[in-house]
Amino acid sequence: MTIAIIGAGMAGAACASQLIQQGWQVSLFDKGRSVGGRMSSKRTEQGYLDLGAQYFTARDTAFLAQCQHWLRAGSITHWQGRLAQLESGAVVASPDEEVRFIGVPSMQVPVAALLQGLALYTGRQVERLAFDGNRWQLFSAGASLGCFEQLVLAIPQQQAEPLLRAAGVVDAELSTVFSTPALLPCWAVNVQLSHSPWPYDGIFGNAGSQFSWLARQSSKPGRSQGEHWLLHFSTAFSLQHLESDSSEIAGYALTALQQLVDQPLSADVTHCHRWRYARQNPAYPLYGMWYRPALALGLAGDWLYGGRVEHAWLSGMQLARELLR
Ligand SMILES: Cc1cc2nc3c(=O)[nH]c(=O)nc-3n(C[C@H](O)[C@H](O)[C@H](O)COP(=O)(O)OP(=O)(O)OC[C@H]3O[C@@H](n4cnc5c(N)ncnc54)[C@H](O)[C@@H]3O)c2cc1C
Repeated sequence: MTIAIIGAGMAGAACASQLIQQGWQVSLFDKGRSVGGRMSSKRTEQGYLDLGAQYFTARDTAFLAQCQHWLRAGSITHWQGRLAQLESGAVVASPDEEVRFIGVPSMQVPVAALLQGLALYTGRQVERLAFDGNRWQLFSAGASLGCFEQLVLAIPQQQAEPLLRAAGVVDAELSTVFSTPALLPCWAVNVQLSHSPWPYDGIFGNAGSQFSWLARQSSKPGRSQGEHWLLHFSTAFSLQHLESDSSEIAGYALTALQQLVDQPLSADVTHCHRWRYARQNPAYPLYGMWYRPALALGLAGDWLYGGRVEHAWLSGMQLARELLR
């Protein structure tokens, strides 16, 4: 069986790894220069910078077993960051003791580990799809990427919808899957400080704060050394400032930090990144995955399962099981 999977994030990688084990001919396409999607860390002169997923947790026993495998292979490690939370404007120690994992030396390493030996095509943005009732044809930059018996889209909901609508396969049932936006935006900003104002490595914002998360990159192996603090703005802030430019967002980040520290702070913004499709919309109804044999079409992704790395893996695995039935 030949299958094209679009999206080499955790969901696409999990699905591909299962199908390849059963002898399917899998071709995996991603528009990025490397794999990992929202788990990608940016390579900088001082080390990696985790702009997207900061860590992941494992609550499902099958995913926990996968994590044990990655741990043994050295693809991930435990992150034992000292955690704090905002309470009435003050930074206080967090009682949260959940086990957290990170890829080493970058977040995408466990995704890459799933993809060893696979036909992987990075730097290929799939721009058009055509279904003739039997096979799917994919196009990138006006050229065909080939014809396949099955197709999986393991990409954010809002990027899957226009591709499938243009292919003319969106009926009432698929329209329902697309009717509520599944993923909401997040602005990420990295700030270099002269010193650490807190004896912590990660700080959770609260319902009233502009930021949802602040993390000291050097607390993770392989990451930028020095006082690099990665700030994620809240969903409400990110929605409100979605079309702002990076310099404006950088200014907001410095003000937010200044208010939090409440003392003169020497700080420089080194990176700003807008994730348009970042976090799960809590109002989105979850489907796990979506598969229609008559269309030879499947959808997988964190957005179908709950919005975390673990969910992306579970969604990809569930879709693979469905395809292999
Ligand atoms: C700011 C932020 C913070 C987060 N923090 C955490 C966290 O702390 N813990 C946690 O568990 N999760 C976190 N997440 C969520 C986590 O990153 C995701 O759940 C997970 O990475 C999603 O994997 P995925 O495979 O479903 O999608 P993605 O990682 O989005 O992968 C989709 C892939 O499809 C590719 N693609 C899209 N369109 C096309 C196209 N047309 N052609 C070719 N390729 C295409 C993209 O390049 C991408 O590589 C965070 C996410 C963000 C953005």
